[in-house]
Amino acid sequence: MKARKILLSENEIPDKWYNIVADMPNKPLPPLHPGTKEPIGPEALAPLFPMELIKQEVSAEKWIDIPDEVRNVYSLWRPTPLYRAYNFEKMLDTPARIYYKYEGVSPSGSHKPNTAVAQAYYNRQEGVKRITTETGAGQWGSALSFACHLFNIGCEVYMVKISYEQKPYRKIMINTWGAEVFASPTDKTEAGRKILAQDPGSPGSLGIAISEAVERAAMDDSTKYSLGSVLNHVLMHQTIVGQEALLQMEKAGYLPDIVIAPFGGGSNFAGLTFPFLRLNFDEGKNIRCIASEPASCPKLTRGVFRYDFGDTVGMTPLLPMYTLGHNFVPAPIHAGGLRYHGAGVVVSQLLKDHLIEAESHDQLACFEVGVKFARAEGIIPAPEANHGIATVVKEAMKCKEEGISKTILFNLCGHGNFDMAAYDAYFQGNLVKHEITTDDINASLAELNTPEIN
Ligand SMILES: *Cc1c(COP(=O)(O)O)cnc(C)c1O
Repeated sequence: MKARKILLSENEIPDKWYNIVADMPNKPLPPLHPGTKEPIGPEALAPLFPMELIKQEVSAEKWIDIPDEVRNVYSLWRPTPLYRAYNFEKMLDTPARIYYKYEGVSPSGSHKPNTAVAQAYYNRQEGVKRITTETGAGQWGSALSFACHLFNIGCEVYMVKISYEQKPYRKIMINTWGAEVFASPTDKTEAGRKILAQDPGSPGSLGIAISEAVERAAMDDSTKYSLGSVLNHVLMHQTIVGQEALLQMEKAGYLPDIVIAPFGGGSNFAGLTFPFLRLNFDEGKNIRCIASEPASCPKLTRGVFRYDFGDTVGMTPLLPMYTLGHNFVPAPIHAGGLRYHGAGVVVSQLLKDHLIEAESHDQLACFEVGVKFARAEGIIPAPEANHGIATVVKEAMKCKEEGISKTILFNLCGHGNFDMAAYDAYFQGNLVKHEITTDDINASLAELNTPEIN
């Protein structure tokens, strides 16, 4: 039998996270104060995050120890399997070797618990009583709810209203692990009330939900805030994924030529690719890393690199990132997740420096390849993951045309078992090809009055 699964044992779970900032030729630019627009130091983040996470956020240390308690929780589902996609290769009739790292085996079904568990642990260490957060499709809210329960911390989740209505099962998962969940915009916060006054039927957005969660945390000393993507420490926690994958690819006997991941704020992309980018920095390797984003929310391929807020209301620090503008709300017809307006600072800088690549795919094309993948390999991918698969197919077909065999690795960052409504919409022909127009992007960017980056 051909080896389909490449497994590691529990004691091979890496004991350090990799901090790519140490190796970046151009370090990330500093965050700016939302009011004064002056650079802020770590202490400005103290109302929102525990000190240890703030230290990680600004750290330039190459390796950060993973606490034993965190590794211990990781061992509930880690190491995750790496698969060779023989059936998918055959279906595509490609000479490429296609591997995927499968993060869908975690309790909440995606890579998100890798950082949720670490964040809950550090908050607990510093005596925090409650964590607030936002969630879009519900992946992050469910992961954090699970993690908070393990470390005995309260959890309050602001869930984008359209997802709250379209994905009741994610909400029920959040309740099952013991957290409270509200449809955002709510009337519990200034930020929510302001949006509702302008637009009572607002479908919500991640930016709005962030404003609400941040406001709640800022109001109360024993409450902190947590983010499931974008920030440096979040991306770093995810590097457990790529480090395991590197060990597994060594066992398989192939180093990937191309590493691919879907892109929302950058955490699963960073998680898989950064340990391979380290080989480019340390060993002069030339591994291509490609981020795959939706054509309806294309910050990497059609956004601008400049300072912008992380939320809609403008309460968070200004971050230097690729953005579509903080008022950008993706079309509700878009079913493929990955709806955030901006990209993480570290990934943005790497893209600016041409150390990584990005491309976008239309949602219809993504579901088409996602269904092919499910029929070949069995696992039904999260709609987000389908974006990565679209890039995999493109590269695999290039290999076929050129008659060369490359090794492709991608992040199957979650399963789609709670996304049946989106698959159903696809099968019913209710998903439309959707690409945002340049006018829409320009209109959103015209509202930006944040500092330019030279
Ligand atoms: C949250 C999520 C994403 C997008 O977030 P990133 O930070 O870009 O990884 C992608 N896929 C799945 C399954 C998710 O849950």
